[in-house]
Amino acid sequence: MIYGENSSKNTIGVLDLQGGVCEHLDHLERLGIASRRVKEPLDFEGIAGLIIPGGESTCLSRLIRIFDLEGCIMGAFKKGMKIWGTCAGAILLANGILGENPLLKLIDIDIERNGFGSQLDSFCTEAKIPDVSQEPVPLTFIRAPKICRTGENVRILLRFPDYIAAAENDQVLVTVFHPELTPCLAFHRYFALKCGFSALEFFPSEPNGKWSSKSWTRLARLA
Ligand code: GLN
Repeated sequence: MIYGENSSKNTIGVLDLQGGVCEHLDHLERLGIASRRVKEPLDFEGIAGLIIPGGESTCLSRLIRIFDLEGCIMGAFKKGMKIWGTCAGAILLANGILGENPLLKLIDIDIERNGFGSQLDSFCTEAKIPDVSQEPVPLTFIRAPKICRTGENVRILLRFPDYIAAAENDQVLVTVFHPELTPCLAFHRYFALKCGFSALEFFPSEPNGKWSSKSWTRLARLA
């Protein structure tokens, strides 16, 4: 097991309300990082980072309110917890959502929901993201949003001609695609480094060729 710099915070949590929870847990496990499902206030104890998975942002924001978790997320964030939002998770973290009210407002970006069209307009591609990996990173976009503006304190990690796909500030990472749906561990390693898991620096993006999406079903059964 690999621990972070701050030994009292050696776990990465995955918000477990809706969406791609198992897939993120599976990637963290493959990196050897202690992980935990987060769905109630006590689960926030001792976590260095929180992943808000993809899913459906309207549904996720309602569940965050119903389970009264907004204060927990904001409280842990103020104490230094890092947050990574994938797809719907990125929508929840944005300062602005086109035509809708934002929720957490933790990164100065504007985002357009369903920016590529319907579910049928989902697609896979790959891109070089030098900050994240030396190898091209596979990208899966599922009814993805587009980041259409970034503020001054936001660093762009991946830009296409008419939209931004990955960006970060000191505490928050946002990706409009789904690294957890590919074999590649590069973004999970990148987020873990951001959370202080420095021992991962030289960990390869693809430690073995044996990845199978079936591993998620095992984690789902353990839930
Ligand atoms: N289209 C979804 C939304 O607006 C996000 C899709 C996803 O997370 N893959 O919430």
